[in-house]
Amino acid sequence: MKKLLLLLLFIPLVSFGQTKTGLELCIQYQKSFSAFSTEKEANESLDKILNVIGASKNFTLVPCDDISNALAVTFKGERFILFDEAFMRKLTQLTNNWSSLFILAHEVGHHINGHTRDFLLATVLDDQSLEDRRKEELEADEFASFIVSKLGASYSQIEETIDLIASNESDLYSTHPNYDKRIAAVKKGFDRGYSDSDTSSSNTYNSNENSTEYINKGEIKPNYENPRGRINASYGNWYSSKVYPLEKMLHNQTDPFKKKEIKDSEPIKELVARTQGKSLSHYGSKNVEIGIKIQNYTNNYVDWNDGNGKEEYLYIPNKSFHIELIGWADYPKEIEYSQTNRTYATFEYVIDGKFSGQFVTYIGWTDMFYDFENDKELEEPIKVPIELQFNGWLYKSQQKENYEFVERLKAGKKLYLRFGKLFNWNGYKNENTGEYDTSKTSNKYQIPKYTYEFDLTGSSKALNH
Ligand SMILES: [Zn+2]
Repeated sequence: MKKLLLLLLFIPLVSFGQTKTGLELCIQYQKSFSAFSTEKEANESLDKILNVIGASKNFTLVPCDDISNALAVTFKGERFILFDEAFMRKLTQLTNNWSSLFILAHEVGHHINGHTRDFLLATVLDDQSLEDRRKEELEADEFASFIVSKLGASYSQIEETIDLIASNESDLYSTHPNYDKRIAAVKKGFDRGYSDSDTSSSNTYNSNENSTEYINKGEIKPNYENPRGRINASYGNWYSSKVYPLEKMLHNQTDPFKKKEIKDSEPIKELVARTQGKSLSHYGSKNVEIGIKIQNYTNNYVDWNDGNGKEEYLYIPNKSFHIELIGWADYPKEIEYSQTNRTYATFEYVIDGKFSGQFVTYIGWTDMFYDFENDKELEEPIKVPIELQFNGWLYKSQQKENYEFVERLKAGKKLYLRFGKLFNWNGYKNENTGEYDTSKTSNKYQIPKYTYEFDLTGSSKALNH
């Protein structure tokens, strides 16, 4: 990865001769202490990486202190990956458990793509331009992203690593490309890894392994003394808004029973990110928006208050994902919404022509008896469309679908969405998967199938809670 960087680091300090000796020492050192626990872990990670592509292990991993880096190098005809354990640990602490695997996979990528030349010869024959080196870095990033995506990392977990190690300054005089280029390479690799995965098994989130991701962030620790206000921002075509309901509600709350209730039900942080869509037919609704709500809780479950006291554990610990369609006015006004007899609809989506799926939601109109804007009772109720919330969040499978959809939005360019079909739900859901029985299709109402396009420029930043 950072062969030149390593050399540059050493140039001001020591001569090249000493650098080589240092490397040799490092390799000798490694050979005499092979039962290193973290090195064992590193080797296991290397095996995981190589398993993804079915390559044989023809590298040696060498822990090498104080280089604050990792690098792929060939030395006297042998292939090595040097890594600084303290550096990798630090990186993991600052980001998540996938970062060291990403870095390792990046170095493997250099070897696999034939970027590494012999360390001894490289300094003599180094005629490679910075431009070529940057190209190699992008190839290694794409490879690494592909690998960790296959192994189950989410896009945001990879993004977090790049956030930390790359900057967006001009890369003209650097061996490493700038942030935007690296993130584009990462997207490419992630998409490739994701698209040829069996998504039901490969993108399984391992809560034990990755829960640290959410622990180190000050933002999701409630600040009861000094509640934070709303934070609004816009990125590209996206608008995002963050609030901290828990700290606001617990500030000055003295009743311990109420405190507990609030703590169990209110999110610490709530992010809502929205973007306006456009209909590809001029007959479609003009003000369609898609909204994503991400909430962080102190709990790892949702207390589903439906009388049976059933708790559903969240797919991603302490976190829920809602997807809403706002302003979709294409459905017939006569569909009544009631708790007992709901009409359901499916919605189909495609992202970048690669990823597709469907959501289920209930639709209809409901009577409103109160005018909230003017704060008064209404003499005649008005009909208002009910908010479309895709995929109830009670089932882990649906939470997983929503989560993966959000990850796809962050990595994608365009989202297309359209109404699928109406069905009368018979009340049955698959207990394990949470899937609705959609077999009883309803022809009672005709709903036009206008396709809506959503530009995903800025989505990654807007959804970066
Ligand atoms: Zn590299």
